[in-house]
Amino acid sequence: MALFGKKESEPVVVAGRSLHCEICKHDRFWKQEAQLNTAVATFFNFDWANKTANCYVCDGCGYIHWFLPRK
Ligand SMILES: [Zn+2]
Repeated sequence: MALFGKKESEPVVVAGRSLHCEICKHDRFWKQEAQLNTAVATFFNFDWANKTANCYVCDGCGYIHWFLPRK
């Protein structure tokens, strides 16, 4: 079954390392992008208002790994 409209989960590399799930150590993820709204950015006093975060949802347990793109 296709989740999130993607065909299949896939391996992810972050900062030059293969990503493994924090919870179940699975190595395949569904990639999603999440808009960071201004309210959240303001709350944390970050300067990435309305940037897009990369979200990798574990294909094994569903845990969501969030990453903010570096400039
Ligand atoms: Zn997992």
